[in-house]
Amino acid sequence: PEATTIGTAWSTEDGAGRARDLFAEHIGGTPDGVWAAPGRVNVIGEHTDYNNGFCLPIALPHRTYVAARRRDDDKVVLVSQLADSILSWEGTLDEIAPGSVNGWQAYTAGVAWALREAGYGIGGFEAALVTCVPLGAGLSSSAAVECGVGLALADLYDLGLSDSDAGRTDLVNAARAAENEVAGAPTGGLDQTASLRTTDGHALLLDCDDWSVRQVPFDLDAAGLELLVIDTRASHRLVDGQYEARRRACESACRILGVASLREVGDLGAALSALDDEEMASRVRHVVTENDRVTQFAKLVDAGRIREVGPLMDASHDSLRDDYEVTCPELDTAVDAARAAGVLGARMTGGGFGGCAIALVDRDVCNDAARQVVKAFRDAGFTHPDLYVVTPGPAALRVQ
Ligand code: ADP
Ligand code: MG
Repeated sequence: PEATTIGTAWSTEDGAGRARDLFAEHIGGTPDGVWAAPGRVNVIGEHTDYNNGFCLPIALPHRTYVAARRRDDDKVVLVSQLADSILSWEGTLDEIAPGSVNGWQAYTAGVAWALREAGYGIGGFEAALVTCVPLGAGLSSSAAVECGVGLALADLYDLGLSDSDAGRTDLVNAARAAENEVAGAPTGGLDQTASLRTTDGHALLLDCDDWSVRQVPFDLDAAGLELLVIDTRASHRLVDGQYEARRRACESACRILGVASLREVGDLGAALSALDDEEMASRVRHVVTENDRVTQFAKLVDAGRIREVGPLMDASHDSLRDDYEVTCPELDTAVDAARAAGVLGARMTGGGFGGCAIALVDRDVCNDAARQVVKAFRDAGFTHPDLYVVTPGPAALRVQ
């Protein structure tokens, strides 16, 4: 039998304690509070966000914890503990701007810049960060850290943003601005929305046209199900160029079809026959059918038919593999092995070319599915995958 360890998230007490300890050791004294912000996994709806379509993320129980204290001057002190290193940075608010901070500081300090840009009056602060969200795995450690720092600043400076969905939407925009403009990563707002606007026990039906949301009860436990997350640990090969190429194909298709976004394509057959370029037609087919799958998925879950969503997940993966062409051997292997083990459905999640796959699986099949995936990876000569079992957790909040 293969050695399979399924990673679990830190408890709130554990995470908050670690953040306080780091604060005491590297900054000194006690923080004014501790905030926690989750990573996310998208259950269905991939490459739909920039096409003004639908997606359905959940907040992970894996969170970044931020112990923070307000300062009376304009100094900023940041320390972050990662698996094998401690990062630290000191500067002033005025030093934080696009081009002058980069790397991890862009995702953390960058949020302070974005809030000030948006007109919010904040001063200096000290923050100690710890996380159990794996970095760079496609589970959005970047949004977790941005949203944790953003929420801490909102509370430390009484910005009045944490208690309303409108306020949280402003925080989403600040976190996204930090990522886009300071870190220079051209991502949409899906990750930050999932981290700040979800509800415990629910998936978030997100309409990326107007950023409106609907909370969809997603009670895996009551249905006897688990959501297994498989981090393939495959590097995102060529992902930058490929991501841009997909976006451009969608934009070109919109111009030919005379629509503002692929969201507006009503008659798929007519749209496909209007496109001469076969590859472009495949891209459009993915986006249009994927939007439809998200809608159907949410309807089934609403109707208490969560056990029937598996085929939609399978179809989503197959469409991403065959029509959108953003999977990779590791993702396909994970999905194939999980399916062979008898899961209800399995698909890649995130942008593709590496990152994670997910499988919806009966509780008593979960361990076996995990073992089968590990075995398939070993047989193929791939790096050992990391495995997590997750349930939808709460959005970012103050925990102490
Ligand atoms: P993902 O969001 O999928 O984990 P990204 O490449 O978008 O991957 O973001 C990872 C980057 O975010 C890291 O390289 C680091 O710069 C930053 N980051 C995330 N979490 C932390 C943290 N706890 N402390 C410092 N930097 C972090
Ligand atoms: Mg990210």
